[in-house]
Amino acid sequence: MRVPIRVLSPLLINQIAAGEVVDRPASVVKELVENALDAGATRIDVAIEGGGRELIRVTDDGCGIPADELPLAVAAHATSKISRSEDLEAIATMGFRGEALASIASVARVSIVSRTRESDAAAELIAQGDHIEAPRPAAAPIGTSVTVRTLFFNTPARRKFLKSESSEAGRITDVIESIALGHPQVRFSLRSEARTLLDLAATTDPKRRAIDVLGADAAPQLLEVDDDAAAEGSIGVWGLVGRPELARPSAKHLRIHLNGRPIADRAIIHAMREAYRGLIAPSATPLAAIFLQIDPREVDVNVHPAKTEVRFRQPSLVHQAVLRAVRRTLRAADLVPAFDLPGPGSAAPSAGVSAGSSFFSGSSSTFSAPPRAGMSGMPSTTTHSSGGASPIVYREIADALGPKPWAEPTPLGTIARPVDILQIHASYIVTQDADGMLIVDQHALHERVMFEMLFERVTRGPLERQRMLVPAIIEVSPREIEALDELTTLFARIGVEAEPAGPRAIAIQAFPSFLFARSVDPADFVREMLARAVDGTLGRGGTADTEAALSETLDMMACKAAVKAGDRMTPEALRELLAWRERVERSTNCPHGRPTSLRITLRDLERQFGRG
Ligand code: ADP
Ligand code: MG
Repeated sequence: MRVPIRVLSPLLINQIAAGEVVDRPASVVKELVENALDAGATRIDVAIEGGGRELIRVTDDGCGIPADELPLAVAAHATSKISRSEDLEAIATMGFRGEALASIASVARVSIVSRTRESDAAAELIAQGDHIEAPRPAAAPIGTSVTVRTLFFNTPARRKFLKSESSEAGRITDVIESIALGHPQVRFSLRSEARTLLDLAATTDPKRRAIDVLGADAAPQLLEVDDDAAAEGSIGVWGLVGRPELARPSAKHLRIHLNGRPIADRAIIHAMREAYRGLIAPSATPLAAIFLQIDPREVDVNVHPAKTEVRFRQPSLVHQAVLRAVRRTLRAADLVPAFDLPGPGSAAPSAGVSAGSSFFSGSSSTFSAPPRAGMSGMPSTTTHSSGGASPIVYREIADALGPKPWAEPTPLGTIARPVDILQIHASYIVTQDADGMLIVDQHALHERVMFEMLFERVTRGPLERQRMLVPAIIEVSPREIEALDELTTLFARIGVEAEPAGPRAIAIQAFPSFLFARSVDPADFVREMLARAVDGTLGRGGTADTEAALSETLDMMACKAAVKAGDRMTPEALRELLAWRERVERSTNCPHGRPTSLRITLRDLERQFGRG
């Protein structure tokens, strides 16, 4: 029973298009706000009800639509923005497909009230489904106000699919923030029923707007990326990127703009993660707003109806430009996180930081006090203090020293001897730098230092290895024998030589000299590598030949070879480790992205002691 071929009705065509352009309230808002920007608006106000399902109204002060063109505005494939194929080569407006209003009108009740500068009255057009009324005179200021009611009223399946009111409102906020980032000179507001969700003042300073969007809390933690390569006619990269501690589990806080348009681009997200590799957890994404300027002829924005995906003519150049610019910024920055101390007199600090902050602010004179509960198992580190530095002793000293206490030599043995490097609890190193006091996690820093050295070394050729006098034989599964094959190249680079010795055994013939020197057990190391190759966790689930796999392996080596928490270090070793800290890159974080150091600034100390 064959059904004859028929041309689809315009309503159906628009509804199908709507499936691509308007899948939820936030995409309606996106299209309407983009239209307002294309109309040259300086102020865009958005109001929603019911998370946008009941009502979305976008009001602008742009150029307006003449009354006689209103029916065209809601007609499919009608646009004022492009007219020739060549225009597609270099699109300068946010919209150009001429289908948004038609699509929206096909799935909602739409009213457009608009007035141009030339006209002294406004006109209103009402459209819903395939019913479009003739424009009627109305009263309104210059500009356009589009109201969209009961979205998906005629496509109930879709309407049911919408998420909760607050989640849709959240998406709408996100869309407006994204667009607003690229248009600082325009004022944006968002109201949901009686609540103001957003109010972004117009500014000529893109940095100001970026901070307004990324959040004032984040402001002190943002670094400016400024790569003036655009001056040379290539790709310009500007932006604000968060310090590693602002990284988030989702990519939602990484905003990417291309020529003023928010885009989603996996290659750029990848470049960003790559720039932060080793500074943040591998699964995290940095918080940032990145703006790219590229010759419009070098990119195709006409890939997807929602225009969030783009196609670059030379994607690798874009990847490189972002990676280079962001990496340079991070390397130039001092990434030691400042210790967030509560101000004096404030309520008890919350868990987490509290142990540290009460230790330092409340008991700075009790380095020699008996270990507190829970610390009794830790080795004592009181070598530099007298054993009696309680506040009472300090008063006695002050009294004894008379009116000019600081001109007199301080009696040694009464006050802790000044030292500039101190190992505490055989785990942390306390020292100073120009800004204040540094607390270093000895294992994390040593691991980072060795990782960087190994990484640099391995780019120059395979690591030195040492032949084993007697090969180490390990018992393995047949699957692990296969895995050994996959690891050949990687093993060659790091100086491991191993081969099957029967169906269930592997013989390790050579091992990196470096690991030998740090007494790492060859059998343990190779077993762990095989296990990771077998369960597919090496190289972020990729193959063992990737850079990621190499870097994870070097990281594993560094971790095994590094001093552990609890290892006592000689003063020379401490000094040397801290000296390396100055020399290697990314020394502020261990290869897993955890910080190696914390800083308490002099300002914080002054505040804590009531001096500031
Ligand atoms: P596109 O934006 O791709 O051109 P739309 O369906 O979104 O397609 O809009 C159709 C046309 O309606 C636009 O080309 C523009 O001329 C006009 N228009 C839509 N919204 C506005 C607005 N807020 N101010 C002025 N003109 C508008
Ligand atoms: Mg449009």
